[in-house]
Amino acid sequence: MTNQTNSNIPYPDYALAQYSAYQTLVSSNLYELPINIKKLIRSYGIHIQTYTDFAKDCHISIDNVIFMCASKDGCTMKRSDGSYLLLYNDSIKSKGRIRYTLAHELGHYILKHHSKNNKIKISRGNFLKNLDKLEYNKLEQEANYFAKRFLVPLPIVDKITNKLNFIDVPILVNIFGITQQPANYIINELSKRRNRVYSYKESYQLNRKFQNFIANHYNNKTCLSCQYDYEVSFNFCPSCGQNFFIIPDFTNTTLLKLLRTTNSMNYPTLNLDAEGRIKDLCPICQNETLYGNYCQICGIDIINKCTGIKASNGGIFTSSLPCSTPLKGDARYCTDCGANSTFLENGLLKNWTDAP
Ligand SMILES: [Zn+2]
Ligand SMILES: [Zn+2]
Ligand SMILES: [Zn+2]
Ligand SMILES: [Zn+2]
Repeated sequence: MTNQTNSNIPYPDYALAQYSAYQTLVSSNLYELPINIKKLIRSYGIHIQTYTDFAKDCHISIDNVIFMCASKDGCTMKRSDGSYLLLYNDSIKSKGRIRYTLAHELGHYILKHHSKNNKIKISRGNFLKNLDKLEYNKLEQEANYFAKRFLVPLPIVDKITNKLNFIDVPILVNIFGITQQPANYIINELSKRRNRVYSYKESYQLNRKFQNFIANHYNNKTCLSCQYDYEVSFNFCPSCGQNFFIIPDFTNTTLLKLLRTTNSMNYPTLNLDAEGRIKDLCPICQNETLYGNYCQICGIDIINKCTGIKASNGGIFTSSLPCSTPLKGDARYCTDCGANSTFLENGLLKNWTDAP
């Protein structure tokens, strides 16, 4: 991690930026996602102020603050008493963009860009006369890299990907509170890794920090078609067989509430024993002693399984080899492939669009 010998060549030190981002997280008292960036910045004694408040305090216009900061997004100043003031433009509509700006400015602070270069002000996205352009670009790229790694630590992305069985741009946007642009960048980066296994020095510490939070969140998908909540590892909704869903998190509570209040479906279920067999009576013939795969009296499937039979939109049925995935008592559809379950085929569970 030594960059002493290269300090005159203005190449961005990405390794240092990543190391610093991860160390900042590890040593923080943050245990939840998305990262509470303001809380962390304040823990360093950095004063945060909006452009609006700063303009009011100084009796100047917002445009003047933008000019002073040489940035529409934000800047950090080292005051004469050695303390830091971080200003950000609160008229920016995107919360994700503001969070990125704050992380970028934190990066300048953590990477000691102000003191190293003895510059009063390093603003986001603008070239300043008093800094050599190459040197300025290097600092900007380091701060950007810090921001990306800090807001979206890759070991945590890997953990979440493992849990959800997939990762995409909307998920990154939701979970880490970032905008589409850095999310696209990260998805791109992940695809370049292909199947190689990556381990990071800080993986263990980072994972330990967020393990409780991840264990307690992102456990369900909510079906956008029938509003049913089902396990996050399922590919298809067991209630309606669709795969359009949201994963409830802090960004979609409004949508979720709307879904819940418009929901008039009921989701009947059959009680199954530990082996997945219908408990109590056969629902068709009331036979009391059930064992094996079929009711000994009426011959119906008493274990809910994939049939491999799927109805397409045109009402045409296709059939393939059934999966071996065990299904729960409420599953009308196979959670693995979306085919009809034996309980649905046999009329033990009604179609979800039918009245209860
Ligand atoms: Zn900057
Ligand atoms: Zn559904
Ligand atoms: Zn029976
Ligand atoms: Zn199946």
